Amino acid sequence: MRAFFLLPSPMLFCFDEKMDSFFKATTHSAKIKQLAVLTSGGDAPGMNSAIRAVTRTALQKGLTVFGVQSGYHGLYHKKWTQLTARSMANIIQRGGTLLKTARFTDFLKAEVRAVAANNMKDLGLDALVCIGGDGSFRGAHALWAEHQIPVVGIPGTIDNDIYGTEKTLGFDTAVNTAMEAIDKIRDTAESHDRVFIVEVMGRNSGHIAAQVGLAGGAEDVIVPEDFTPLDQIIKKILDSKNKGKLSSILVTAEGQKPGRAYDLAEQLRKRANIDAKVVILGHIQRGGTPTATDRNLGSMMGNAAVEALLTGETDLMIGVRAGHIVKTHLHESYTLKQEPPTPLVQLTRTLSF
Ligand code: ADP
Repeated sequence: MRAFFLLPSPMLFCFDEKMDSFFKATTHSAKIKQLAVLTSGGDAPGMNSAIRAVTRTALQKGLTVFGVQSGYHGLYHKKWTQLTARSMANIIQRGGTLLKTARFTDFLKAEVRAVAANNMKDLGLDALVCIGGDGSFRGAHALWAEHQIPVVGIPGTIDNDIYGTEKTLGFDTAVNTAMEAIDKIRDTAESHDRVFIVEVMGRNSGHIAAQVGLAGGAEDVIVPEDFTPLDQIIKKILDSKNKGKLSSILVTAEGQKPGRAYDLAEQLRKRANIDAKVVILGHIQRGGTPTATDRNLGSMMGNAAVEALLTGETDLMIGVRAGHIVKTHLHESYTLKQEPPTPLVQLTRTLSF
């Protein structure tokens, strides 16, 4: 339940019971006729659903929509094409991103952003929907702060490491992909009485690891948000063995150093003579058919992004909480921290005795 209050300042206040806080939207006065949409940073399943929802909502409202190719690189090099309702057909079920994505570090330079902003103004592109992660949102915030281009962000990253939303686009698909892999690994682990360390993606976030660990019935989960001493990991494996569990699965997040599962395996061998096999799931978690959850998240967020821009809101990120759309200022989405997945890690440990 939300209540809106119009105040004399250029702020639209909105009380959001789910977030239990006031969200004060920053507003713009631009008349939006042409809208740009791009995907930036790492790709994530569900991005196509968001592109489709942005495009079709905007077209329904009488806007013209341009899809920018390869993120901010395309904005700088004027690589864009007009999107139609028909060009959005048959993409909702596809992984990856139809618009392609890129990492374009030149966009960290103010003079490069100025060229991109001028390109938009030259073509009459009045606003931008940016689908990406925290880095992409820094770029979008700068376009608003420096050039007053109205912007709205949609969190698209498998890592679920963005403040202001319970789920990011792609997270649910990545979790399900990793869970299916763990189910298969468990078969062979059990046949050979083996210990497996399965490394999942997530950069500095342990959200994929925590969800997959619990859903896959892992013995232990190691996440960057909570330091787990080596002795505790060894004790868990040995205790399990003593209870007659001859195979074990440990799930670890990649953390800052992808491949660290090999270091852990080496330490287990040296310290406790435990022979652990390593599986690094890697990029398969970024691809594949998006789950219904990610498709619907993309549809809801894409629709809400266009509605927000058309009601005069800017510089915000669309999120979701308890099934409802919520909004967060862009700079908060990348300066504040997402809650750590500690309760799921603890539950996995409780249930794996
Ligand atoms: P993600 O958006 O998935 O976090 P990155 O951190 O690689 O991925 O950021 C994606 C892109 O966003 C970068 O390649 C760059 O074009 C832009 N970007 C990242 N950080 C900034 C920044 N501080 N200022 C402006 N643009 C940025």
